[in-house]
Amino acid sequence: MNEFGKRIKSVAGAELFADGLNTLQVNIGLLCNNRCKHCHLEAGPEKKELMDWHTMQLVIAAARDIRPNLVDITGGAPEMNPNLKRFVKAMSRAGFRVQIRTNLTILTEPGMKPMIDFFKQNKVKLVASLPCYLKKEVDSIRGDRAFDRSVEALRYINKAGYGRASELQLDLVFNPEGDFLPADQSLLEQEYRETLSKEYDVDFDNLITIANMPIGRFNAMLRRKGTLQSYNRLLRKAFNKETIDGLMCRSQINVGWDGKVYDCDFNLGLGLTVDDSVPQHIRDCDPKLYSHRRIVTGNHCFGCTAGQGSSCEGALVR
Ligand code: SF4
Ligand code: SF4
Repeated sequence: MNEFGKRIKSVAGAELFADGLNTLQVNIGLLCNNRCKHCHLEAGPEKKELMDWHTMQLVIAAARDIRPNLVDITGGAPEMNPNLKRFVKAMSRAGFRVQIRTNLTILTEPGMKPMIDFFKQNKVKLVASLPCYLKKEVDSIRGDRAFDRSVEALRYINKAGYGRASELQLDLVFNPEGDFLPADQSLLEQEYRETLSKEYDVDFDNLITIANMPIGRFNAMLRRKGTLQSYNRLLRKAFNKETIDGLMCRSQINVGWDGKVYDCDFNLGLGLTVDDSVPQHIRDCDPKLYSHRRIVTGNHCFGCTAGQGSSCEGALVR
């Protein structure tokens, strides 16, 4: 058993198991217009992995069985999958609440602006990644002009009503630029709101903070800097047992671009599919088995239990 598994067992008395299935997270591809230095998936413009329509149909059929509260679509940049609109329409028609994770800069690429109206028409919730409210930090993570382009996209999104009308929710996502934990989520939200509103006339609903996982491109960066061990030590030292109940893997499954099933997007990044006692591919979806499966953990999981805790929906202990 890995060190994380042992820690969970010592404080909770048992290994980590799922406790229900509320969210169906779908990663529809690794293709992305950015190549961020912290990306846990090592996504980028050269990637070929994209979920095809056949696999999407299997996911839609699985959703009808699971009846999740939320279908959470992620990537890469989901907007770059040519089947995205068809997929969203089918999920919406079937009555599911749909959320899309956007990196914002993609919405400033030629021909992408109408996507915002499409999201609005389908009442899609937007979760937009903006790793900081400071230009220097965002450009350092995402590349030159990434901050200006993100603000440009946020203004279009606000103009469509997102972040300003209650049925069009816009949340922003912060993750640290380097090898440290996110600051308190509510304090950081105030700072984001003040700066973005005053200086850029941008509004949003909530801020979500996510810790960097020591995997993928972030792992490579820490290795280059020689700080991988100290970052891992930081995560272990900040272990907070109060986060265990809310760990996102306990109430979701994640489907990769090729239909393989994972506990979360981080395990997808590491190629760790769900426990082999449950179906490995979404074509064989079994909601009951998934709802009580053993979670496949590794030492990267300390990234989810550090401090306030971290998940795709933000801090776990507030
Ligand atoms: S972090 Fe997001 S925006 Fe950046 S390369 Fe990865 S998937 Fe793309
Ligand atoms: S990395 Fe994934 S499997 Fe590990 S604790 Fe976090 S959500 Fe759960």
